[in-house]
Amino acid sequence: MDIKNKTLVCGAGGFIGGHLVKRLKDEGYWVRGVDLKENEFGNMDADEFIIGDLRDPEVVKNVVTEDLDEVYQLAADMGGAGFVFTGDNDSDIMHNSALCNLHVLEEAKQKGIPKIFYSSSACMYPEYNQMDPDNPKCSEDSAYPADPDSEYGWEKLFSERLYLTYQRNHGIEVKIARFHNIFGPQGTWDGGREKAPAAICRKVALAEDGGTIEVWGTGEQTRSFLIVDECVEGVRRLMESGFSGPVNIGSDEMISIQNFTKMVIDISGKELSIKNIEGPTGVAGRNSDNALIKKKLDWAPSKPLRNGVEQTYKWIQEQIEKRESVSTKA
Ligand code: NAD
Repeated sequence: MDIKNKTLVCGAGGFIGGHLVKRLKDEGYWVRGVDLKENEFGNMDADEFIIGDLRDPEVVKNVVTEDLDEVYQLAADMGGAGFVFTGDNDSDIMHNSALCNLHVLEEAKQKGIPKIFYSSSACMYPEYNQMDPDNPKCSEDSAYPADPDSEYGWEKLFSERLYLTYQRNHGIEVKIARFHNIFGPQGTWDGGREKAPAAICRKVALAEDGGTIEVWGTGEQTRSFLIVDECVEGVRRLMESGFSGPVNIGSDEMISIQNFTKMVIDISGKELSIKNIEGPTGVAGRNSDNALIKKKLDWAPSKPLRNGVEQTYKWIQEQIEKRESVSTKA
C-alpha cells in the first residue's frame, strides 16, 4: 500500500480519535497520535503515539511538526450530560479545551501546516431553537444570535471562530464539523463521562430480566445518534472537499429518549420497565439538519439507528462480561 500524507490526530486516545486513526491507517496514511492517555480499548494503530498534554505549548511544539500535511484536532475535556450539564466542570471544560485549540492552531501557523480539522459540537446551537422536542432547529445558519445551553457549547463556538480567523488571516485551510451525539463500540460506557446511548445500553445490559431501569428526565427529550463509522466517513469526506463548514455531521433519525430506551430493551430481549428520574438532560429537542452536508458533500449519514444500537449493545455487554470475569478471578 502507498504511504500517503503524514497526519496528526490530537485526541487519538479518545473514542472518535481512535476510530479516526484506524480509518486513516486503513487508507494508507502515516499517523501520529497524541493524547493525555492511551486508548483504553487498545485502539492503538498509530505509527507513533505520544502521551502529552496539549495545554502545554512545549508538547504542542514537539507534536506539530513541519512535515505534517494535515492535523485533526479532536482533543477536548468532554463527557455526557452528567459531566457537561451539572456546572461542576465548567471552568475545566472552557480552560482546557480552549488551551488545546489555541496552542495547536498557533503551532500549525508557525509550522506552515496546510490543513486542519476541528471537531465542534451541536451543543453550540442556541437553546431557544431547541425548546420543542418535536421541532428543534439545528441548521448551520441558525447559530446566531448565540445562546448555547452549556459552557461546553460556548467554548466550541469560540473555537470555531478561532479556527476561521486562522483561515482568514494565515491561509490555513480549515474544516469544521458540528458532531451530533456520536456513539458506538469503543466509546466510554461508564465512569460518569459516558453519554446517553452508552449509559442506557449499560443499564439495560446490567438489569435483571423483569427489573426496572432509571432514565434521566421525562424521556420526552429528543435526540439523534450517529454511529461512529459514519462520523469518520463524514470527517474524511469533509477533509477531502473544497468546503470548510461549519457543517453538521449527525443523523436526522430523531427519537425520544423513552423510545430509544425501549429500542435497547427490545434488542436485549429482556422485559424491563422504565423509571424516569430527575437528572441533567440538556436541551428539550435536538436533531441534525442534513440539508447543507447533502448540498456540499453530496452525502449524508444514512445507516438506520437500530443497526448501530445493536452493535453498541453487544459491545457493551462484552465489556461487562470481561469485567465480571476479571473480578471473579481476582
Ligand atoms: P473523548 O473524550 O473520547 O476524546 C477526547 C480525547 O481528548 C480524550 O482521549 C482526552 O484524553 C483527550 N484530551 C483531553 N484533554 C487533552 C489535553 N489537554 N491534551 C491531550 N489530550 C487531551 O471524546 P470523543 O467522543 O472522542 O470526542 C472527540 C471530539 O469530538 C471532542 O472534541 C468532542 O468535543 C467532539 N464531539 C463529540 C461528540 C460525541 O458525541 N462523542 C459530539 C460532539 C462533539
